[in-house]
Amino acid sequence: MITQYYRPQSLKEALDLLAQPNTRPLGGGTWLNQSHDETFSVVDLQAIGLNTIQKTGNSLEIGACVTLQQLLESTECPAALRQAIRIDAGLNIRNAATVAGALVGCDGRSAFATVMLALDAKLTYTNPKTTQSVGLGEYLPVRPAGLITSISIPLNASCAFDAVGRTPLDKPIVCAAVVKWASGRTRLALGGYHTAPILAMDGTEAGGLEAAASNAFHEASDDWASSEYRMDVAATLAKRCLEAL
Ligand SMILES: Cc1cc2nc3c(=O)[nH]c(=O)nc-3n(C[C@H](O)[C@H](O)[C@H](O)COP(=O)(O)OP(=O)(O)OC[C@H]3O[C@@H](n4cnc5c(N)ncnc54)[C@H](O)[C@@H]3O)c2cc1C
Repeated sequence: MITQYYRPQSLKEALDLLAQPNTRPLGGGTWLNQSHDETFSVVDLQAIGLNTIQKTGNSLEIGACVTLQQLLESTECPAALRQAIRIDAGLNIRNAATVAGALVGCDGRSAFATVMLALDAKLTYTNPKTTQSVGLGEYLPVRPAGLITSISIPLNASCAFDAVGRTPLDKPIVCAAVVKWASGRTRLALGGYHTAPILAMDGTEAGGLEAAASNAFHEASDDWASSEYRMDVAATLAKRCLEAL
């Protein structure tokens, strides 16, 4: 339950407020506004200017408070990322949920986080002492407290996404995203299971992609699907993604 609400007008003010105990950043509030057993204060980030999308060289710099709908409507947004955003959230949620909030709050079934992981998204993460850039793959297992200010994705890579769910817009039971750079570097991320998407491969070329997809889901059984099913589907989706690039 939210017990205190702050609405700072600058990043510095936000960071000072977040240094108080038991205080969390508030993005779109679609998750944080739901009922929680714990009590905490929130720092609403909407007035501190983190809502721009800028192309910088070969990268797209996405402000932490850009909404999923803003990103989806950006002409620079890769088509595969648009496809994933549409699966994760309907229009009302997309208009409120922020890019940073969606990554911090994601589980393994987030199509959006799966594509961002394949893209090797870098989060700029700041606290009163330091600012650092950290890969989403390093961030997700820990999800340390603090403030994400922006997220950077490459624009010089091809990206494909595919998913299997009960319906085309349902949460994926298995999804795959493959990103390939001109150098041959190929990353495969898989979603549809557990607490975070999995990086199944980051290689200098695409060889072994299907085997990597299958191996990554070796123990991925739950109420939704057996590991055998996920292994088989993941290999097929990875192959389809590679063919689509
Ligand atoms: C109806 C509904 C359906 C959903 N379906 C899915 C789904 O299919 N798959 C899925 O993975 N998720 C799903 N979610 C969860 C979804 O990921 C989050 O609700 C939403 O995207 C979070 O965005 P937000 O900006 O509203 O975050 P908030 O609710 O504001 O915050 C979420 C978390 O992120 C933190 N946070 C926010 N901004 C920052 C920042 N800049 N820096 C650091 N931390 C920050 C908050 O402190 C909090 O811990 C769903 C949520 C709802 C309400």
